[in-house]
Amino acid sequence: MSPAPAPRLDERCPRCGGGFHCGAQDQRCDCFDMKLSEDLRQRLGQQYSGCLCLACLRTLSAEDQPAVKPDL
Ligand SMILES: [Zn+2]
Repeated sequence: MSPAPAPRLDERCPRCGGGFHCGAQDQRCDCFDMKLSEDLRQRLGQQYSGCLCLACLRTLSAEDQPAVKPDL
């Protein structure tokens, strides 16, 4: 019996309900690499009590970008 190598999905994203693991308590989280604006971080902090999964952070980060296409 070998231990399952699957990462522990011990958190639940409050936005999409998906399981994920936030590495913030391990001093290393994928969200550290996300370029979230200070404004977006604050809004997320007010809206949600915990961390969001990376998929949601990506979506929100993309939505947070100015809706201006550089090639238009
Ligand atoms: Zn999510």
